[in-house]
Amino acid sequence: MSNKELQALKERYVAAGAASPNEQFADYAKNAEVWDADGKRMIDFAGGIGVLNLGHRHPKVVEAVKAQLDKVMHTCQTVMPYEGYVKLAEKLSHIVPVRGHAKVMLANSGAEALENAVKIARAATGRTNVICFDGGYHGRTFMTMAMNGKVNPYQTDFGPMPGTVFRAPYPVPYHGVSEDEALRGLKMALKTDANPKDTAAVVIEPVLGEGGFYPAPASFLKAIRDICDEHGMLMICDEVQSGFGRTGKMFAIEHSGVEPDMMTMAKSMADGMPISAIVGTDKHMDASGPNSLGGTYTGSPVSCAAALAAIQAFEEEDILSRSQALGETLKKRFHQWQEKYAFLDNVRNLGPMAAFEFVKDKDSREPRADLAAALTKKCKEKGLILLSCGMYANSIRFLMPVTIEDEVLEEGLKIIEESLDELS
Ligand code: PMP
Repeated sequence: MSNKELQALKERYVAAGAASPNEQFADYAKNAEVWDADGKRMIDFAGGIGVLNLGHRHPKVVEAVKAQLDKVMHTCQTVMPYEGYVKLAEKLSHIVPVRGHAKVMLANSGAEALENAVKIARAATGRTNVICFDGGYHGRTFMTMAMNGKVNPYQTDFGPMPGTVFRAPYPVPYHGVSEDEALRGLKMALKTDANPKDTAAVVIEPVLGEGGFYPAPASFLKAIRDICDEHGMLMICDEVQSGFGRTGKMFAIEHSGVEPDMMTMAKSMADGMPISAIVGTDKHMDASGPNSLGGTYTGSPVSCAAALAAIQAFEEEDILSRSQALGETLKKRFHQWQEKYAFLDNVRNLGPMAAFEFVKDKDSREPRADLAAALTKKCKEKGLILLSCGMYANSIRFLMPVTIEDEVLEEGLKIIEESLDELS
């Protein structure tokens, strides 16, 4: 079917709130390229929002999925467990840098991982509150909606949010929130709103994802670790977007040397198959009673096979070195653009988790969301999928596969340059 025919079906049958505004329908994809239903080729700098750090259909993952399909697709792991779940738990326990011996729960999505992290933190501490950050994003279920530090569009239209979620500032010096102020905000929240003795956890993205790709300084993450220890709260790092090689290391928190109590991950964990994980110190992970955690599809055998193959690919193909090199390439290019264009500023990156933002001018730093929207639109017309993000919707973020071929990367960057020229 053509894009046009599929669009007509979408308009008639897909709920408005869930329907993509994109009128191109994906038909075939390979590494960093996607072809739509009319055969038009697009370069993919979005990777399905950070899911495809290993590219579309990495051969090792495809092979593992096919092999698993011939064995068992589903049992519900609480009814009858299988090798993939426990092997993946073993692997994650070894590679995820939480404190002490780590144990694992698998789930289906990022939001579900966060939901379960909060449940586990409550069980482990006997406390209810969680503290999250301005601009943070954790999902679209009720608890995670409440945890999101941005109201529109996530909370609008959906009535009261669950209570017991409190907010602290995230350090974004470019927009006036210094690290010191952010820390003071967290300490104030613990004084004025969220009694530490009732607070189970502080949940932080080491690099703000949807909120704008702002990396938290290592010293800030260390300070949070100390505050959590002082009050017996758990430190939970949400690495759903920053994990699995997006920042030049397997997990972003590794840049800081901080060991959280728990981490959540999903997206690039299985190169496109739906799966997520909660990985935490054993005594916390074991805190809740028998049959208290789970779900019909949690840790599907097919997704476990994909995740194991993806992690193997990271190890065998030195993906982290490629990620670091990509980060350097983007950084160099962004600095050139920052020099050249008066409206482009605040280039930043932790590895290839890289972004820049549009402003009225470099003195006022007034966000220009209209320019971000104009750039992504122009790029789309020229055959490049590019995403904006941020509290002010004025940042452009880069989530292309780390495995992108040099020529395809260059072609995509040229499209951006051409579009920036047209905007100036
Ligand atoms: N946490 C973070 C940091 C995310 O970026 C996202 C998704 N963008 C989520 C949680 C939610 O993940 P999912 O969409 O798989 O529920």
